[in-house]
Amino acid sequence: MIDPKTISQFQKLETPFYYYDLDLLHKTLSKIKSESEKYGYHVHYAVKANANDKVLETIFSQNLGADCVSGNEIIKARTHGVPGSKIAFAGVGKTDKEITTALQNEIFSFNCESIPEIEVINELAGKMGKIAPIAIRINPNVDPKTHKYITTGLNENKFGVNHWDFEKLSKLIPSFNHIKLTGLHFHIGSQITDISVFQELSQKINTISKWFEDQGFNLQHINVGGGLGIDYENPTSNPLSDFKAYFKAFNDHLKLKPNQELHVELGRSVVGQCGHLITKVLYVKEGLNIKFLITDAGMTELIRPMLYQAEHQISNLTSKLPHQTYDVVGPICESTDVFAKGIDLPGSKRGDLLAIHSAGAYGEVMASNYNLRDIVKSYTNIELTQS
Ligand SMILES: *Cc1c(COP(=O)(O)O)cnc(C)c1O
Repeated sequence: MIDPKTISQFQKLETPFYYYDLDLLHKTLSKIKSESEKYGYHVHYAVKANANDKVLETIFSQNLGADCVSGNEIIKARTHGVPGSKIAFAGVGKTDKEITTALQNEIFSFNCESIPEIEVINELAGKMGKIAPIAIRINPNVDPKTHKYITTGLNENKFGVNHWDFEKLSKLIPSFNHIKLTGLHFHIGSQITDISVFQELSQKINTISKWFEDQGFNLQHINVGGGLGIDYENPTSNPLSDFKAYFKAFNDHLKLKPNQELHVELGRSVVGQCGHLITKVLYVKEGLNIKFLITDAGMTELIRPMLYQAEHQISNLTSKLPHQTYDVVGPICESTDVFAKGIDLPGSKRGDLLAIHSAGAYGEVMASNYNLRDIVKSYTNIELTQS
């Protein structure tokens, strides 16, 4: 997956760093476009998955919309040429400043997560003499069959409006003069690999959107959020998610009205496989019954294993020695700073380069400078072949 020429380029660079394969990103984007265009669906990219400028430039050159969860993400998308009319804005805790930014940029939709939030948007839009287009983010109580830390659409989660508030909401909305209900929004979780979950979601949406239509609302769009998973176990043999089956699930099961738009917000499945974290082995340390490979990257560069018990494939790019069993651990002063336990790798020594794969989503964006470490750098395949 990473060729010998690229590996020899890596050896000239200071580690750790992120490496992005923009060719794979292009391939992924063209698959997403061809599969979504079959049905005329609108695709937004969830900026929070990866906000690296080189990655965003590639994505937004393909005319995708943006899904933002902060005011700064809205500004970032705008600087990459995304028009306000293609920006959706979600989040349970939008601040007054962020709402004002969104209003100034005349965004496509505020995806609203509570009644008090709608009241504030109405008030701020009123002060600016505007009408804010809103979609209600619904908590449909669908189990996404993923890790509990990345589930968002169950009644116990903090996200979205639950069914017991629908009645109150439908009575309140017409009394607000500075908002217009334009759609419904759903986002039930992340790393969903069972496509039947999207079938179940579609069936829930059919019932809920009918209820809102029956109350007299004209829903111009349905937004099904993101969540499509990637193959963390086999990134080389299976680098693209099953976009065909994903979009087909909505086409087969969602009942849209004529002219009603369908929007999706994909994050992980767009960028996950194009990113690798490249790190050097600092020390091989003899532990009790196990050898530790201590790397120069840690949870400050990639926190997913520590935060979500995520498992990333790891390869040694520079050794061809017989395999041994290792725990791969970072240098940070935290016991949870472990990338993988008991994995087989070619015999490794100080100075070897390791690649932690499938790190393009929720990797670099979550970097911190805990322990006053430097913020991680990044390179693309394009930059490395030019140098
Ligand atoms: C994070 C997020 C997404 C993207 O989720 P992925 O699992 O990365 O596809 C989409 N919509 C909303 C509202 C989100 O918060």
